[in-house]
Amino acid sequence: MSEAAPNTPSPYIDTTRPHPARMYDWFLGGKDNYPVDEEMGRKVLAIEPNVPVLARMNREFMRRATRWLASQGIRQFLDIGTGIPTEPNLHQVAQGVVRDARVVYCDNDPIVLAHAEALLRSTPEGAVDYVQADVRDSTAIVERASKSLDFSKPVALSLIALLHFVGDRNADGGAGAHEIVSGLVDRLAPGSYLVLSHVTADFQPEKAEQVGSLYRAGTASLHPRPRTEFEKFFTGLEFVGPGIVSEGEWHPELGEPVPGEEDVIKAGYSAVARKP
Ligand code: SAH
Repeated sequence: MSEAAPNTPSPYIDTTRPHPARMYDWFLGGKDNYPVDEEMGRKVLAIEPNVPVLARMNREFMRRATRWLASQGIRQFLDIGTGIPTEPNLHQVAQGVVRDARVVYCDNDPIVLAHAEALLRSTPEGAVDYVQADVRDSTAIVERASKSLDFSKPVALSLIALLHFVGDRNADGGAGAHEIVSGLVDRLAPGSYLVLSHVTADFQPEKAEQVGSLYRAGTASLHPRPRTEFEKFFTGLEFVGPGIVSEGEWHPELGEPVPGEEDVIKAGYSAVARKP
């Protein structure tokens, strides 16, 4: 048998090391995490107690952006770095607006695959599929997603709170976050959208550095990016709505505010842009 490709996701849930998807679930108050995740989560909270509020704000950004896109007539969604299901999930939001919306989810963590059945409850008119893959394997993702999505028509591609786990070109010898995104966007038809949110150190550099070194030591590399680097992901695209803002500021009228939101110091950027 040939050796697995370097980006092949592990089929096993490793409960000896914290994982970003499970830590995020713990921050959101979920139950799909292990003592190692909670332990690391508590260390992060000792540095920045507002992470749970920021995580919820990020999740709400996903919901508002999805609601907005569906109301613009977008019927196809490809969501990479989906995370452990937290209701309402993206397909529930999209299908709540357009019942026949088709959604493909993708994550590389086996814990997400283990809970994928919660993601796969589609409306009868729509469709939901799940692909276990690494975002670096974008060709395989698009190929698998093509079973459910028609890439000759507009697709909303979302990578929400994912890209700060992906380094720059040359850091690990492979394509960097920017090349991965532009490779994916190249596959999209005109009228498609790119939806991103991303951690930055711009507002709290010292805390971001401390949290970054915690993640690096225990779980995954964390790459907060400055605004200019975030903006580069959208090269060739046209921003819609307010442009680049923090999570809570993107069309806030389309959802409910998160309790505590007004007191947090910003920690990320989010934006939605259209492919002309
Ligand atoms: N998009 C969700 C979850 C964000 S947590 C939300 O915003 O609510 C980040 C997710 O990205 C985790 O589920 C993690 O497993 C996934 N992830 C991290 N690196 C990845 C990679 N290289 N390829 C695919 N998914 C990845």
